[in-house]
Amino acid sequence: MAKFELTDDTVVVVIGSGAGGGTLSNELAQKGVKVLCLEAGPRLDYTEDFVNDEWEMFDRLTWHDERTSSGSWKVAKDFPDLPAWICKTVGGSTTHWAGASLRFQEHEFRTRSEYGDIAGANLLDWPLTLEELAPYYDKAEDKMGVTRTHGIPGLPGNNNFKVLEAGARKLGYKTVHTGRMAINSEPRDGRTSCRQLGFCFQGCKMGAKWSTLYTEIPKAEATGNFELRSDAHVLKIEHNEAGKVSAVVYDDGSGKLLRQKARVVCVAGNSIESPRLLLNSASNLYRDGLANSSGQVGRNYMRHTSGTVFGVFEKPVNMYRGTTMAGLVGDEARHDPSRGFSGGYELETVALGLPLYGSFLEPGGWGKDIAWFIDRYDHTAAMWVVGEDMPQASNRITLHKKKKDRFGLPIPNVHYDDHENDTAMRNHGYAQGTRIYEAAGAIKVKAAPPFPSTHNMGTNRMSAKAQDGVVNQWGQSHDIDNLFISDGSQFTTSGAENPTLTIVTLAIRQADYLSSRLKMNEI
Ligand SMILES: Cc1cc2nc3c(=O)[nH]c(=O)nc-3n(C[C@H](O)[C@H](O)[C@H](O)COP(=O)(O)OP(=O)(O)OC[C@H]3O[C@@H](n4cnc5c(N)ncnc54)[C@H](O)[C@@H]3O)c2cc1C
Ligand code: SF4
Repeated sequence: MAKFELTDDTVVVVIGSGAGGGTLSNELAQKGVKVLCLEAGPRLDYTEDFVNDEWEMFDRLTWHDERTSSGSWKVAKDFPDLPAWICKTVGGSTTHWAGASLRFQEHEFRTRSEYGDIAGANLLDWPLTLEELAPYYDKAEDKMGVTRTHGIPGLPGNNNFKVLEAGARKLGYKTVHTGRMAINSEPRDGRTSCRQLGFCFQGCKMGAKWSTLYTEIPKAEATGNFELRSDAHVLKIEHNEAGKVSAVVYDDGSGKLLRQKARVVCVAGNSIESPRLLLNSASNLYRDGLANSSGQVGRNYMRHTSGTVFGVFEKPVNMYRGTTMAGLVGDEARHDPSRGFSGGYELETVALGLPLYGSFLEPGGWGKDIAWFIDRYDHTAAMWVVGEDMPQASNRITLHKKKKDRFGLPIPNVHYDDHENDTAMRNHGYAQGTRIYEAAGAIKVKAAPPFPSTHNMGTNRMSAKAQDGVVNQWGQSHDIDNLFISDGSQFTTSGAENPTLTIVTLAIRQADYLSSRLKMNEI
């Protein structure tokens, strides 16, 4: 691993080591670029530190620094200080994630043109197309070992999938399979295949599920061009008199503040911390925060329209056995306004252990009905509705007016209201999920509300015109050309699909662009 001086102003500093930051770091290092990644969380050993225990791993991996929430979304009431489920650890949320890896569809890059003017929605076309991204999607799928691509076989179906499949086929759904998963169905890339342990959300002890923790990061280190500093929480990005970013200030984990110089800064802290860092970096020159001449930093926060459907059956299902999310019904992902809403959604199996099942079934719920469901945990199947949500300018991350963190910086507030399109889509998903389980013979079905957001997007969105967004089609700030956004916060719209494959795809593409600009001395 390389070791850079604090005064080295030739390095590219990447903030965050998750899907976006970890991938970008490795891609740049492979191209000979000097990269320093600053990660707020600790570096864990997945073989030793990951344990098959829901709460313990939730505590160990999750970003617990205080956040507040507001708005009419149910999460603000049910989990007011946990609006989002995001990780603080080397590998970021790719330690917790389930691995579902679907490409966006063509129309999802052109929602303003395709869906038209939807009142209250701040829709915008992406400044790029599926055709432009396709070669990078290919590379991302290959890198991550996504099943059903590159000749990689699908994963076997567990009971949770078999129940979903039986009901979905009876209803006539056609796209029903065990998903496109960044989980090895056979040994690949020096990692073993899935052992069906069922703890994908807790961190895969086998290393079968792709995570930057044990793929991108060690590969980057092996190049000799890369240094990772863990427990390094970035507090501020600084700029020089010309307005270009020039350094970052971070806490080194012991309370000491250090200043690292930089040639380029790439922000990949996920969709709450990334805009917060830009806002907290306000200066005399950039009074509203960095990259924010449009006023769009923090706005258009998206989390996917979501909800869970539980079905209880006469015979045991044991949903927790086997992969957490390898099961998909894709037919509803189309844009078909005749259903009463724009955009589409996926239905995906989701398995919760008893602790999370108890927490998410009906937050705050109590009494005989809830106990009935909990008693039948082993007879329960579960699916997740996940669909496109509408960007809204008022759904946004702002700096809290009073509350400060331990560094004296304002904490973030996450404001979200469901758009009526989101509500109509969720209700459609609940209805179809209920029909699927009833067709498979469920004795009782329950629709449960969204849990804290695992998918976080928008807040530094891409736009063709500077006044509409924060970054251009390369993730480069419209205002400051050596400042990049490299995570899901650059999404213009959310699509229906789980976001990580697209985050990785954009990071690979950004690395191509950035390294060539650096070589030409254009940045
Ligand atoms: C339980 C769960 C299941 C999921 N399942 C799926 C799935 O099946 N498919 C899918 O596509 N997606 C899934 N996701 C979402 C997926 O994990 C995220 O989309 C993805 O990891 C986001 O990538 P990112 O680079 O934006 O941020 P992250 O991967 O979250 O990485 C951000 C990193 O930045 C660090 N950081 C933040 N601020 C600072 C700072 N100021 N200084 C230094 N470091 C900082 C954080 O500690 C973190 O490590 C899931 C998420 C969860 C929690
Ligand atoms: S089910 Fe497979 S991917 Fe999930 S934790 Fe177990 S081995 Fe890893």
